[in-house]
Amino acid sequence: MTNRNLTELDMAKIVSLAKRRGFVFPSSEIYGGIGSTWDYGPLGVALKRNVKEAWWQSMVYDRDDIVGLDSAIIQSPEVWIASGHADGFADPLVECPTCHKRYREDHLFEAMGAESNASGIELKCPDDGAKLSEPRMFNLMFETYSGPVQDTASKVWLRPETAQGIFINFDNVVVSTRKKVPFGIAQIGKSFRNEITPGNFIFRTREFEQMEMEFFVKPGDDDSWYEYWIKTRFQWFLDLGVRAENLRTRPHEASELAHYAKGATDVEYNFPWGWSELEGIASRTDFDLSRHEQHSGKKLQYFDQELNDHYWPYVIEPALGADRAALAILVDAYEEEPLGTGGKEDLRVVLKFHPDIAPVQVAVLPLSRNDKLVPKAREVHSALRKHFRTEYDDAQSIGRRYRRQDEIGTPFCVTVDFETVETDNAVTIRNRDTMEQVRVPIDDLANQVRAQLRSMGSTRA
Ligand code: ATP
Repeated sequence: MTNRNLTELDMAKIVSLAKRRGFVFPSSEIYGGIGSTWDYGPLGVALKRNVKEAWWQSMVYDRDDIVGLDSAIIQSPEVWIASGHADGFADPLVECPTCHKRYREDHLFEAMGAESNASGIELKCPDDGAKLSEPRMFNLMFETYSGPVQDTASKVWLRPETAQGIFINFDNVVVSTRKKVPFGIAQIGKSFRNEITPGNFIFRTREFEQMEMEFFVKPGDDDSWYEYWIKTRFQWFLDLGVRAENLRTRPHEASELAHYAKGATDVEYNFPWGWSELEGIASRTDFDLSRHEQHSGKKLQYFDQELNDHYWPYVIEPALGADRAALAILVDAYEEEPLGTGGKEDLRVVLKFHPDIAPVQVAVLPLSRNDKLVPKAREVHSALRKHFRTEYDDAQSIGRRYRRQDEIGTPFCVTVDFETVETDNAVTIRNRDTMEQVRVPIDDLANQVRAQLRSMGSTRA
């Protein structure tokens, strides 16, 4: 892949492509939109599913030491009191007295290159320069009521992370699976945070999906597992084709750590607006299990048969947003290539998705909408769709259809032409990245497509 300075990439181009081709739409658009809320279109839902599937595959299916879970979004309010979210899950909100815009104080400090807890700096409104208010802590959890009676007893929160659903099921999982430490529990699901400043497309939204895994280890083994998970998670992005130069790890300063955390490292991505957190890997000690034991009164210690001892396992947590991962992959895949033909059609826009992530892996295209070609192309498509994610398309000229498939990141296009039906019963396979075409007999097509997907990096085809 060619190098590209992502900061030069106009985010608006990606947002516009995402809408035009059916990846992501502004939510509630016919009612004027709801602001920083997005709906995934036909290709976006496929992209996000593939990202989640790749995560689940690497975390759960490929390993013996991690199992899955799908816990409820609405849990007992006690969960959030025990975890500390009810009191402490808050961001510092500052407000402009004149234009009433609201900001996160720590983000404003960050933008100035100052520490989040910097003192003596007077913050001004980025819009009109007025002195901003003193910060007040704003709890990010969404409140609602469970059941028909709206009183304080029925008040519940929408979960702001999936992790606590894992901790409260620790004992259920140990008993039902007989897993022994070290082992992990993985979960993918929606989380909700009433963010003060959502934005940057699907990077920060109030409703989003998380992919979190809590890995339980013997106290004392936590440091080496922490290092292991930082490396493993970093490698996962590389394996999905994300360019190494756009990824880095950033260990947190001691001042940034939660009081219980031993360490935290972010995997950051060089988004068009600069380096930002993609995933967080935290070393959480025994904080969560011990807190839930204290609050619930239910024993959550683990009995280690080898040591003949009870303890709360220490926890390493890799936590990644599915939407944020999809955005990084989308941005990273975006390329504009001059074709050297001159004229206004000279620029090729192509999403160079990894073949295991691409919403469509193979498109089947008859050269034209001809009575002989269409049935043959349909037949080829029916055979291929059993093996790959496919699409059949016979609308518009073949050139336009190639451009569309490039723009949605389809690795291979299979074209059925007159020779196919009249002479050789073979088709051409066009490679998205090299634009080279090879002729392949239909009888061997699925094998050839599989081989080509593998040569592009697929481990699943
Ligand atoms: P920030 O400091 O940016 O608000 P955080 O450090 O609180 O984020 P975590 O609680 O560590 O984030 O969440 C784990 C992951 O979940 C993040 O790395 C990110 O990928 C994703 N995530 C968190 N908040 C959001 C959000 N509002 N929108 C989309 N993804 C999010």
